[in-house]
Amino acid sequence: MPIYEYELVEGESCRACGGHFELRRPMDRPELTACPLCKKPVRRVISAPNTPRVAKPLSVSDAKKAGFSVLKRRDKGVYEKL
Ligand SMILES: [Zn+2]
Repeated sequence: MPIYEYELVEGESCRACGGHFELRRPMDRPELTACPLCKKPVRRVISAPNTPRVAKPLSVSDAKKAGFSVLKRRDKGVYEKL
């Protein structure tokens, strides 16, 4: 189930949700328009779903561990698989 990130449209503070929260919702549910806790209007924060936030930039080895193929740009239009 994807995790969606929401923030309050107006104001930053909310005692119930902190003004910013993440919610796990089924894909087929309609977009959330109000905080389920305080009922204030919210908007979705667009971020890559299911991607844990990383404080530091990913290194090549981290990316490989996560199952990515790491491509390095060598020349115009030429990528080398590392
Ligand atoms: Zn709230």
